[in-house]
Amino acid sequence: MADMFFADGLKFSCKRCSHCCGGEPGYVYLSRQDLSGLLEFFKMSPVDFEKKYCRWVGYYDGNEVLCLQEKKNYDCILWQDGCSAYEKRPIQCSTYPFWTCLLKSREDWVAEKVNCPGIDSGELHKLSEITEKVISYERNVPIKKSEFKDFVEEFEKEN
Ligand code: SF4
Repeated sequence: MADMFFADGLKFSCKRCSHCCGGEPGYVYLSRQDLSGLLEFFKMSPVDFEKKYCRWVGYYDGNEVLCLQEKKNYDCILWQDGCSAYEKRPIQCSTYPFWTCLLKSREDWVAEKVNCPGIDSGELHKLSEITEKVISYERNVPIKKSEFKDFVEEFEKEN
């Protein structure tokens, strides 16, 4: 975010095209916060939710991490003519398109328009809001496979 081309804010309004929720292969990683929200929403145990909706995928740091499954057409497993868990959708989803990699430069932001017709249109988002989303996105570390057993034990103690 070195050149801060968005100091005066950025326009973005979701056009409900669904492109960011499917249509081609992708990864929606789940952090502890994401998984807790989804378990609350679906009223499921971590083990059942993991079996039904998740997969383990390689991450850039070499770990296997928790990720939502995709359908055969590459739509997100939670997509049903809209996000079926919208209120508790993962932070990766709720912060899009205010992701660090898309805010490196104006060129990166503009290039993402091929994937998202809502970029540079509609609502103006202030710098403070953008910064908040970037921080949430950055802090949202996916759960490692080696941490899942502890997560399940903690969940069972609390529920
Ligand atoms: S969790 Fe919801 S918002 Fe996120 S990719 Fe899946 S359907 Fe889209």
